[in-house]
This record gives sequence, C-alpha cells and structure tokens, in this order.
Amino acid sequence: MRVVLLGPPGAGKGTQAEKLVKKYNFPHISTGDIFRAAIKNGTELGTKAKEYMDKGELVPDEVVVGIVRERLVQDDCGEGFLLDGFPRTVAQAEALDDALEAMGVNLPGVVNVDVQQDELLARLTGRRVCRGCSGTYHIKFNPPTVRNVCDKCGGELYQRADDTIETVKQRLDVYRNQTSPLIAYYDQKGLLLTVDGSREIEDVFKDIIMLLDK
Ligand code: ADP
Ligand code: AMP
Repeated sequence: MRVVLLGPPGAGKGTQAEKLVKKYNFPHISTGDIFRAAIKNGTELGTKAKEYMDKGELVPDEVVVGIVRERLVQDDCGEGFLLDGFPRTVAQAEALDDALEAMGVNLPGVVNVDVQQDELLARLTGRRVCRGCSGTYHIKFNPPTVRNVCDKCGGELYQRADDTIETVKQRLDVYRNQTSPLIAYYDQKGLLLTVDGSREIEDVFKDIIMLLDK
C-alpha cells in the first residue's frame, strides 16, 4: 500500500504513522525525521536543512525532492510506503506524481488529517520526542509513563527546537500558504480522504484504517 499523510504541523501524522507502520509493515518515510537525523550526524544536508528548520521555513523543493526520489527506489519500498510530511508544496506533489509514474505505480489515496489551529498550538508546544527512536509524546495528551523517558525504548525525551511558540506560528503560516493548496490538488484527483484529527489518537487511527481498508 502506498499512502501519503497530509495535514498541518501537529495534526498527528507522526503519531498515526507509528501505528500504521506496525499494522501494515511498510517503511515510514518522514522527511522531517530524515533532516533531523542529518543534523544529528553533522552532514552537509543537515547543515543546510537546519538553516530553514530553525526559522520554521520549508527546505527548498529541489533538496527535498531529490531525497524522496532516492528513498522511493530503495528495495524496502517495493510493496509500499507511508510518506509523512511530504509533499508540502504543489511542486513537491507534482514531482511525486512524476516519480510514481516512472515507478509504474499509483497512489490509492491521500489521508488528510484535519485539526483546527488552536489545538495545533497546544499540541506542538507540548510535544516531546524520543532521542532514541523518535517516538512522539505530549506532556498532557499522550504522556510517557515516566516523565521524559520513552515507553518504547527508554530513551530521553526532548523538546524540538522548532516547537517554540514563535516558530510554531511561523510553521502554521507556512502550512496555510504553501501546503494547504494540496488539499484541493488531491481532491481534484479524487484521492483525498479526510479524517477528523481532533479526536482521540485511537479513534483517529480507527478512522484511517477504515478508509485505507476500503
Ligand atoms: P505531526 O507529525 O503531524 O506534526 P505529531 O504526531 O508529532 O504531529 O503530534 C503532535 C503532538 O500532538 C504530539 O505531542 C502528539 O503526542 C500529540 N497528538 C497526536 N495526536 C493527537 C490526538 N489525536 N489528540 C491529542 N494529541 C495528539
Ligand atoms: P516535520 O518533522 O514534518 O514537522 O518537519 C520539520 C521541518 O523539516 C519543517 O518545518 C521543514 O523545515 C522541514 N521539512 C520537512 N519536510 C519537508 C518538506 N517536505 N519540504 C520542505 N521542508 C520540509
């Protein structure tokens, strides 16, 4: 199965991706995770991406598209994949269409996780992420059993540098201006599957599975 998770920052894409990957056993391709790993490893890509991420801006299309193109042709993507946080611009969506066409495959659907702005602010500023496995928590809505310790791997939880209130506001503006046009883009293609992302994590998961299994 080939799935794209669309939605504003904080909608719960990463949270749902963790669960979907366990159920469907396809690779989880998060462009944000790829950039954070590059920053951690001190690579040239990391240095370049960090410039944009720290400001809450998008990494340039040509950089992101190149990375995703290379990733999609790896062996583990043969049977399917889950794209999380890509595409984020119409140019990226068009590049994805071209890449899929070259691979001779189709997208059965794009899951749009819909959450209102006020809720997104609360979710993003309270998010905590595991340094070890990138597992996602929330100080109120999805807390770990032991404060700042990952339930899954015992790793330390941290607050992302771009989850401060100022950067979050900028990222939400960027979403509105550059990413939200993708809702109409995929709707016109008849691929849009919208779920109400403001519900409990388990309920959102059930809705997504229902749509994907149809
Ligand atoms: P995204 O990947 O779309 O940016 P995340 O999956 O990282 O979003 O979720 C953002 C924050 O919201 C995290 O702290 C996560 O624990 C929390 N969260 C995710 N889904 C829900 C939900 N349905 N209800 C409440 N909080 C949620
Ligand atoms: P995320 O982990 O999805 O919240 O992404 C964190 C940051 O990484 C974003 O604010 C962007 O700076 C960058 N990023 C991730 N995915 C993309 C993408 N598809 N296009 C451009 N920038 C991206």
